[in-house]
Amino acid sequence: MASVSIRDVTKTYGNVNVMHGVSVDIDDGEFVILVGPSGCGKSTLLRMIAGLEEITGGEIAIGDRVVNDLPAKERDIAMVFQNYALYPHMTVADNMGFALMLKNAPRQEKVSRVGRAAEILGLEKLLDRFPRQLSGGQRQRVAMGRAIVRDPQVFLFDEPLSNLDAKLRVQMRSEIKGLHQRLGTTIVYVTHDQIEAMTMADKIVVMKDGLVEQIGTPLELYDHPANLFVAGFIGSPAMNFINGRIDGGAFVTSDGIRLPLPNGAKAPSSGEATFGIRPEHIKIAAEGVKVSVDVVEPTGSEIMVVGRLGEQEINCLFRERLLIRPGDTITVSIDPAHVHLFDMVSGIRLDGRSVAH
Ligand code: ADP
Repeated sequence: MASVSIRDVTKTYGNVNVMHGVSVDIDDGEFVILVGPSGCGKSTLLRMIAGLEEITGGEIAIGDRVVNDLPAKERDIAMVFQNYALYPHMTVADNMGFALMLKNAPRQEKVSRVGRAAEILGLEKLLDRFPRQLSGGQRQRVAMGRAIVRDPQVFLFDEPLSNLDAKLRVQMRSEIKGLHQRLGTTIVYVTHDQIEAMTMADKIVVMKDGLVEQIGTPLELYDHPANLFVAGFIGSPAMNFINGRIDGGAFVTSDGIRLPLPNGAKAPSSGEATFGIRPEHIKIAAEGVKVSVDVVEPTGSEIMVVGRLGEQEINCLFRERLLIRPGDTITVSIDPAHVHLFDMVSGIRLDGRSVAH
């Protein structure tokens, strides 16, 4: 196991800068997920840790060793790819033991390390099969087995679940999380799926356009997003954003509706602010603000209401059984403790509770 330290790393392809100084500290044994929209640079960063891509500026260290100039095979890392990259003509056992075969490890060592990895992953009965005889989830487990057999200092995962169907993805999420708990090895994992990040990570790094937007635990990001981008990216259904300004101790929407402000809210330097409230934090109440209902989507366990507050769209998620129909007007209350406030222009959080790094 080892820590990974990424210090002010930049990356240029030709004359295009795609990474503008990224710093992340990953503790020994930590499960860190790099998340962000397509093109934000997360795979490039992972490939730079792996040594598959050169670093243009800055420094990457694994444990105490700066690895900038160290070839991939000397970095003591194991990578699990999206497409599994299994050899079709080799059995599961040979696929898993491939790295040991390359090192000319003794047969007995190979059998025992492959056996141990197979046991950890529940693959004991499949060792003689070929990849074509496996389901998608089993193939993914073999790919992880191949990484485990190498007993690396750090595991790197590049969108390993994106080729699986939705149900299998959920199942593999808990398998990978369980695997990390059993092995305790440092994991750096890339995904564009914020739910995957929220459910598995000890620490999430949210990236956009080659920059880190925020680093924190899943709940830190959910409770105190540092800016509008993180607020909109983390959480499902997404946070509502309502535009307006601060006036006389309240938030006043562009339609003139007054909403409560969180404690310690600062006035935005641009004068205009964006009010954020998650759908699950809006409650039906006897007194409050009026929302006109456009669409009602019951899922059994909850009801999603798409409506309008003045002219601005607002989504509300209710956990109780309510008889609400399109065309109704409902009264809702908003607890100031759950309100997020941002500068509309810079997007920066205004209530001073952010945990941006
Ligand atoms: P992500 O994994 O977040 O989708 P990438 O790390 O793949 O993003 O890409 C980051 C940026 O770098 C993108 O703008 C992409 O077009 C660019 N990029 C990636 N690989 C190359 C390459 N080999 N040559 C030029 N540009 C690249």
